[in-house]
Amino acid sequence: MRKPICYLVATLLSLAVVLSGCVSQMTPKTDKQTLDPNNSAVQEAMAQTTVYKRAEVISSPDEAKQLLMDGNERFTASKPLSKDLSFTKRSDLLKNGQHPFAVIVSCSDSRVSPELLFDQALGDLFVVRVAGNVVTPVELGSVEYAVDHLKVPLVVVLGHEGCGAVTAAVEGGEPHGSIGAIIGKIKPAVDDARAMGTTGKELIEASTDLNIQNALKDLLKSPIIKERVNAKEVEVLGIKYDLDKGTLEVTH
Ligand SMILES: [Zn+2]
Repeated sequence: MRKPICYLVATLLSLAVVLSGCVSQMTPKTDKQTLDPNNSAVQEAMAQTTVYKRAEVISSPDEAKQLLMDGNERFTASKPLSKDLSFTKRSDLLKNGQHPFAVIVSCSDSRVSPELLFDQALGDLFVVRVAGNVVTPVELGSVEYAVDHLKVPLVVVLGHEGCGAVTAAVEGGEPHGSIGAIIGKIKPAVDDARAMGTTGKELIEASTDLNIQNALKDLLKSPIIKERVNAKEVEVLGIKYDLDKGTLEVTH
């Protein structure tokens, strides 16, 4: 009589496992439920989110610059502000649209993350990242969109110390794949730095500075950006980031 009872218990246990699997598949996960915009609770929460006040939108280049510099001071002091990453904040940004106060054209280097080193939050920065912080028509289009449609008052080209892309352009050689397109864009800066008589690490850093300057020149070739700059509604700025100190140097 013991064997059939064991079989019965085992069968019941198996059935319970199968059923619990079915139930878990049928029940939506909490995260999915929270993010589903068709969910009535989510719609209600979105309706109750606070409206972005127009006064919070930054339209002055000086004010935008100050916000970036203040953020970098907090970053270097290891005292970043706590960020509002809540559902309410995300819903607010979705409902009321984005109002970033600065465009950052930054090198893709993983140690140069604009939101971290400027200590800014969701919706604050419009970031264009590309190795060597070069400005080709593709990057330029992104900046024009931010300046023209989002009315962003400040455009920063963010280069950095010890840039791998600039170092590769200095070292020369045959780049693989499409890397040559980036190196070719950096090369004029290297040629100019060499003409200045720099060598070694000094050559790399001088090339980095001139490469930032060239990116700024490329930005100003855009009539859309140039017009806003002339009207003093927009400022373009070159900044170099120090990798270990975490500090910024305004280069142009
Ligand atoms: Zn770099």
